[in-house]
Amino acid sequence: MLADSHGRVATDLRVSLTDRCNLRCTYCMPPEGLDWLPKDEVLTDDEVNRLIAIGVTALGITEVRFTGGEPLLRRGLPGIVAAATALTPRPRTALTTNGIGLARVAPALAEAGLDRVNVSLDTLRPDVFARLARRRRLDDVLAGMAAAAAAGLTPVKVNAVLMRGVNDDEAPELLRYCLDHGYELRFIEQMPLDAQHGWRRDDMVTADEILDRLSAVYSLEAADAATRGSAPAELFRVDGGPATVGVIGSVTRPFCGACDRVRLTADGQIRNCLFAREESDLRPLLRGGATDAEIADRWRAAVAAKLPGHGIDDPAFLQPARPMSAIGG
Ligand code: SAM
Ligand code: SF4
Repeated sequence: MLADSHGRVATDLRVSLTDRCNLRCTYCMPPEGLDWLPKDEVLTDDEVNRLIAIGVTALGITEVRFTGGEPLLRRGLPGIVAAATALTPRPRTALTTNGIGLARVAPALAEAGLDRVNVSLDTLRPDVFARLARRRRLDDVLAGMAAAAAAGLTPVKVNAVLMRGVNDDEAPELLRYCLDHGYELRFIEQMPLDAQHGWRRDDMVTADEILDRLSAVYSLEAADAATRGSAPAELFRVDGGPATVGVIGSVTRPFCGACDRVRLTADGQIRNCLFAREESDLRPLLRGGATDAEIADRWRAAVAAKLPGHGIDDPAFLQPARPMSAIGG
């Protein structure tokens, strides 16, 4: 088991497959991109597969989510998914993607055993998309979502981040689109994880504001809190249900006490929290002939040291050195 000293057990592994991306979302990275990891520092497909196998067969991981950067940029993705879903016990698998290229690969991913996808979609307006993501790719994203649904990668979940003065008036429109297409929409509060350190608490569109904006158009009723478990999204039934909308108040409504996640970066670091300031490097073990048991021990120790919370509200809070795109959201 991957237990920490605050009574939590990590069962949900987030695997970042690359730090590279074909978009430049303003809340994530600067227009010029970042200094990408050198190729020899990025884990090979075999190394990723070995770590996932250790996590699932020796450490109690039951859910594996592939992310990035943009995970669809990783050529070996279908093979990595297939290796994960061939494990016993078989973990649940999901992919968080910006949706570009998904229209083409959704059938292959479904064939490889992927269970479902989360697609990031912050706006339905082409000009706002171009301003927010700094690329004109809205149609590709919408096509990717439709293809994922058609391939059975369901429920298709949609992640949206609202930025004040950019797309914060679009919450009801985004929800309408998702309801019409059978997608499950979740709004995520913007977090201080951008490479350019541009996050300001006062600028952040809070969970309360998001709910106010939605409530102006829809009737929202809190879904049973008991079913939430370790899920970060608070769910609300829309207009009596059964459709729901989620709000992830990572900053104003932290859920650290129920967190069951652990992260593996593309270069082989275990991070016990999105906001961790320390990492445990598994790459030297992987490349230095360590046994699975030795790697598992190092991984257990990394999770055991997990802090109780992210401390964003603490005046002494320091943003982690690694930005979101290099951690895996
Ligand atoms: N590129 C993929 C994507 O965009 O879905 C996967 C990686 S991305 C880092 C994962 C999720 O993190 C996306 O839904 C994105 O909107 C979200 N994200 C990125 N930066 C964020 C920030 N500063 N605050 C909140 N969410 C953020
Ligand atoms: Fe790329 Fe995802 Fe970051 Fe946008 S949020 S720049 S799509 S990694």
